[in-house]
Amino acid sequence: MTDENPPRTPTLETEAIHGGLEPDPETGAVMTPIYASSTFAQNAPGEHQGYEYSRSGNPTRSALESNLAHLEGGEYGRAFASGLAAISTVLNLLESGDHVVVGNDVYGGTHRLFTDVYEDYDLEFDFVDTTSPTAVQKAIRPATELVWIETPTNPLLRIVDIEAMSELAHSEDALLAVDNTFATPVLQRPLSLGADIVAHSLTKYLGGHSDIIGGALLTDQSTLDEQLGFYQNSVGATLSPFDAFLVLRGIKTLPVRMERHTENAQAVATWLETHPAVETVYYPGLESHPQHELAARQMDGFGGMVGVELDYPIDIVESIVSETEVFTLAESLGGVESLIEQPATMTHATVPRAERLQAGVSDSLIRMSVGLEGLSDLKADLDQAIDAGS
Ligand code: PLP
Repeated sequence: MTDENPPRTPTLETEAIHGGLEPDPETGAVMTPIYASSTFAQNAPGEHQGYEYSRSGNPTRSALESNLAHLEGGEYGRAFASGLAAISTVLNLLESGDHVVVGNDVYGGTHRLFTDVYEDYDLEFDFVDTTSPTAVQKAIRPATELVWIETPTNPLLRIVDIEAMSELAHSEDALLAVDNTFATPVLQRPLSLGADIVAHSLTKYLGGHSDIIGGALLTDQSTLDEQLGFYQNSVGATLSPFDAFLVLRGIKTLPVRMERHTENAQAVATWLETHPAVETVYYPGLESHPQHELAARQMDGFGGMVGVELDYPIDIVESIVSETEVFTLAESLGGVESLIEQPATMTHATVPRAERLQAGVSDSLIRMSVGLEGLSDLKADLDQAIDAGS
């Protein structure tokens, strides 16, 4: 290879299908087989062929972990039984007395895990507006060991500057962990912007078909990966080979799905902005979004999630979300089908109301995961639901 012909980095579309994967060495099977075995024969005591027991390592899970690491531009991946199991494993790195700075509109389950579980282990959490580097800087102190952010945030679709957060966290030798569930590696790769750990709920876009629960952690630091691997094995909340297979299958179409999710969401958000019943639309792809420029710089697309405030009292908003027919009223996001929900009573019901309101998540906020259905059907459905419910 000459200097004029440097090695090419494969595109994300190619990485999604081939990254970190090889045909099965035994049979040539092109798709990674489901290794449904809890244990593996050893040639002599302690002498195995790379796998000994499926909690510590399973070939189907390893294939997924390697594929995810390729997509995030990291070296190492760990897959878990849920997104929350993955997030909890990051907290296992901390010791009692440690302090964590967290975004104030993170997923409600993350908030519950931090406050209702880990505060009892003497970890301290400060929930701050992570869109403001000044607020984060003020909250960071010598005991801070971790800065935890989501971007785009759930449910307000705010954008957090990952590079700025990385500088702030590292100035106190704290780790920066980024929950990249909403963006996926197709739209945003936090490790390349200075994050130490990327977390995912595989349940969402990566699985992509609303048929599994799973989570993952990715890093490019070997020591960190070894620690995460120790807790993955010791706590044991690992992803099953069946679910790893389904996520691997989902990822192959991730780039194509994200393109269409983004296209549909942008069109729905733009249309909603002109709708007479709508007060505010939250979508980073709109020029009216306060961090639109940062989103355009940091992301390769704005994603499939849209938030909306309607100009109606709460009871009307509740009947509107119950009237949709193409959008299903349900928690979760990132599947091929469109979902609609009210965070105050559903995904964020465990966040204390005063705290939720202070973070800007009103009772009447609606969150939509815009799916891959026909755009005209999605708009017509929202239009009829607003009419029928109001
Ligand atoms: N992170 C985000 C941004 C989420 O939206 C969710 C779930 O909705 C999770 C993490 C938790 O993932 P799981 O439900 O797979 O445990």
